[in-house]
Amino acid sequence: MSRPFNFSAGPATIAPEVLQQAASEMLDWHGSGMGVMEMSHRGKEFISIYEQAQADLRELLAVPKNFQILFMQGGGLAENAIVPLNLSRGGKADFVLTGSWSQKSLKEARKYCQAHVAATDEAHGFTQLPASADWQLSADASYVHICSNETIHGVEFHELPDLKALGSSAPLVVDFSSQVASRPVDWSRVGLAFGGAQKNIGPAGLTLVIVREDLLGHALPACPSAFDYKTVADNQSMFNTPPTFAIYMAGLIFQWLKKLGGVPAIEARNIAKAELLYSYIDSSQLYLNKVDPVCRSRMNVPFFLRDESRNEAFLAGAKTAGLLQLKGHKSVGGMRASLYNAMPIEGVQTLVSYMQEFERTQS
Ligand SMILES: *Cc1c(COP(=O)(O)O)cnc(C)c1O
Repeated sequence: MSRPFNFSAGPATIAPEVLQQAASEMLDWHGSGMGVMEMSHRGKEFISIYEQAQADLRELLAVPKNFQILFMQGGGLAENAIVPLNLSRGGKADFVLTGSWSQKSLKEARKYCQAHVAATDEAHGFTQLPASADWQLSADASYVHICSNETIHGVEFHELPDLKALGSSAPLVVDFSSQVASRPVDWSRVGLAFGGAQKNIGPAGLTLVIVREDLLGHALPACPSAFDYKTVADNQSMFNTPPTFAIYMAGLIFQWLKKLGGVPAIEARNIAKAELLYSYIDSSQLYLNKVDPVCRSRMNVPFFLRDESRNEAFLAGAKTAGLLQLKGHKSVGGMRASLYNAMPIEGVQTLVSYMQEFERTQS
């Protein structure tokens, strides 16, 4: 079955093979007589699904032994509270503001700790990354928060900051909701990374937290037990009922990624897709991307028509051409093409052809 290409920023497109496999197992998973949604999370069938998903993710992301992988709920936004509840010890935390998502993290953390802005690119409209040498890091910060890919502004860290080299011994906390599994992670620079699943690794409902073990066990007394990382870790993410179906779907996607050659192979694909789209935008007279080329996101490409009165016509034509959900985020306007792992290069080629044709018919 051929489907339109879906550029949604999230929940986002999932590989058709994965959806087909889930459909074929919907009523009876591996001869168990039950669908995954109907299984006890404590039964051997679901435990095997959970363990496979954990092992595959650890392998795909090369997660070191001294990090725990937690399957939680609440999404990236809940983590904006759960992280300070677990890591701040009621003290200070530093934030680097690079777009809407890091701004939201700062705002929420203020409820739980002294949240300090170490750097911000607001003056440039979030089109650059503040140079790490200029970050005003606190000597006593309990952690430093960054968003490694700003899904709305289209700004990405292509290298994680090395806090030690910047004179900070605080752990780095990374919101990698829209970057996870699109490229390798340098875990030597990370204390904790979190992300909702619905961008790159499955349906909404599952939240990934990958945390260094020495950061467990310091939650504030007010932290809900279900959100205390130590409690979650000690109970293999089953202190309460985990999002079983979302974990199963993520597991199918991990298998799909492994078959494609793992994270290095998908990264090469992602680089090729992003280059194709940005190089066309930069060469055109009609389209514009405002982000500094050194930190343009591979996953989310916001772009504008120089004649904004043509926006609706562009979107309507795109839909007719089988290109869905290209409207930009309401806070930024314009268009946004999200090129997550499950978007094939053919989708980007079709998009660029449509953009060329649209540009040709404007003059
Ligand atoms: C989507 C997104 C979130 C929010 O995730 P929810 O699951 O809606 O809470 C947070 N951070 C980033 C970078 C995102 O892209």
